[in-house]
Amino acid sequence: MSEQTLKPTVGFIGLGAMGSAMVKRIAEGGYRLKVLDVDTERAGRLARELGASLAATPADLAQDCAVVITMLPTSAIVEDVLFGTNGAGDALQPGAIFIEMSSGAPAQTVEMATRITKRGATLADAPVSGGVARARVGDLAIMFGGSDEAYAQAEPVLRTMGSSIVRTGAIGSAHAMKALNNLVSAGGFLIGAEALLIGTRFGLDAETMVDVLNASTGMNNSTQKKFKQFVLSRKFDAGFGLDLMVKDIGIALGIADKTETGAPFAALCRQLWSGAQKHLGPGHDHTEMVKFSELLAGSPITPAAGGK
Ligand code: NAD
Repeated sequence: MSEQTLKPTVGFIGLGAMGSAMVKRIAEGGYRLKVLDVDTERAGRLARELGASLAATPADLAQDCAVVITMLPTSAIVEDVLFGTNGAGDALQPGAIFIEMSSGAPAQTVEMATRITKRGATLADAPVSGGVARARVGDLAIMFGGSDEAYAQAEPVLRTMGSSIVRTGAIGSAHAMKALNNLVSAGGFLIGAEALLIGTRFGLDAETMVDVLNASTGMNNSTQKKFKQFVLSRKFDAGFGLDLMVKDIGIALGIADKTETGAPFAALCRQLWSGAQKHLGPGHDHTEMVKFSELLAGSPITPAAGGK
């Protein structure tokens, strides 16, 4: 028996910036795939490239796959894919696992899990961190919310996409953790950008500042992996949408509300990120947040005169 016949067919829904990279790792892991995206041209291209089948609807995908993965923008869209017209929910095989890898809202995840359980399948949340660059090389940091049985079922496929899997607890806990991670990331980005704005007005060189931050205690993921690459270069193409960041911060604040946790810094963070979203409009990269910070500061981040 070939290795492939021993492995379950994986259904993958949502072939965007992240999904298209993740699905390639699953194919390299020796799994047969059935894929779906509302962007049918993109889905067709990827299916041809990977030798995967193309699903016509979520139900069509679910009926053939013991493992179904979603990598979609929001929980509302996942809910529609599961329970809307031609949804995957009714077509899931008994005993199938539905791995929700999008960055979702914990309460909605728990609700969907309950509905799926009634149909004899299991849902687990397994959001990721690391962005497109790490997705391409199978180096994502994966968080997992779900039972031991669900984990045993999901782990082999997850290992094709990530180098670290941390179990966070019950269903929904991984989505909560992911939103809180992005809250920290969003705050780190903002304070770093403001430091660059203050520093360049003082006369410091922006590239030198990033070098010093990265050698010092001010270092964070944005100083290391975003400022030179996407902000100072003015490329603004990190591959993670501003709209998605605002969504994640909103989920984190929702958890703060539900747990009655006073979080004024997080609230200010949301105000600034959603202010940028309103100012720039939809469809921008999250690193373009800097343009809003520049507006508030009254000057752009520029290298010092005579600087590098
Ligand atoms: P994206 O917008 O690039 O891709 C989403 C894909 O879903 C698109 O191809 C879109 O056509 C498809 N889609 C939308 N509605 C659909 C539907 N009803 N049925 C089928 N396909 C549908 O988004 P992304 O950056 O890949 O992010 C996906 C998820 O992963 C989000 O929840 C995001 O917050 C999270 N995430 C993104 C990153 C990143 O760096 N981009 C990192 C970690 C987590």
